[in-house]
Amino acid sequence: MAMMTSGCGSSESSSVTESRTEGTTTVSVTTTVTTTTTPAETFGTTQHPAKEASEYGKVIALTFDDGPNTTCTPLVLDLLEKYNARASFFVIGDNITEESAQVMKRAYGMGCEINSHSRTHSDMKKMTAEEIKAEMSYTSELVEKYIGEPPRFFRPPYIAVNQTMFDSIDLPFINGKGCNDWEEKVTAQQRIDKVLEVAEDGDIILLHDQPSNYQTVEALETIIPELQKQGYELVTLTELFYAKGITPVSDSTPKIYSNCMQEGNW
Ligand SMILES: [Zn+2]
Repeated sequence: MAMMTSGCGSSESSSVTESRTEGTTTVSVTTTVTTTTTPAETFGTTQHPAKEASEYGKVIALTFDDGPNTTCTPLVLDLLEKYNARASFFVIGDNITEESAQVMKRAYGMGCEINSHSRTHSDMKKMTAEEIKAEMSYTSELVEKYIGEPPRFFRPPYIAVNQTMFDSIDLPFINGKGCNDWEEKVTAQQRIDKVLEVAEDGDIILLHDQPSNYQTVEALETIIPELQKQGYELVTLTELFYAKGITPVSDSTPKIYSNCMQEGNW
């Protein structure tokens, strides 16, 4: 996978003209400020490819919930590696062990993003603000401990949300277009059909890498190359928003994204 290389950034020069009055004489001072911004700096990590937003075409973010683990997550990573794709993982804090953390580190090293799916995967609508914050800080600290940076996005367990959660969690809330892939009875082919039916530019696709979800691994073997054949680049959530020039909302606004360009709150 092509990783970030230095020197691919853009340089911008801006001239600032200031007028000052000194005594009775007006002096004009022009200062030229040159700032160099690399896309990697925009991401805040060297783990993502250096690329200008304008260089992206159609983009989709594949996202995986309920890991990390040492059974299904590595198989998902193998496929992402095979097809040179990146994805975002929403991890459950209580699933992070010394062993599963190594898988998380591998994902991050491949340019994938590690985000938060709470600590205990409970219905957070039933929690107080303090309980919600404790769920978030536990997972954030553990993710940061292993990969060096905290999560950038949050996916609420069961997509159950309320205003207390929006007020207490200062990360953008992410939903996604799913295919009920946590249900055993939904076959790999049905998962493929559903994802390919709904996929659009700017979409967030919601999947699961829970321990024995091998039907999703099987489905990915078709989904990934098919989306790429249709011209989509499979990117992280950070890249998805960056590619479309959108700053995701992370304040108290009750907004949860299924497509980075969506209007309205849902
Ligand atoms: Zn979940």
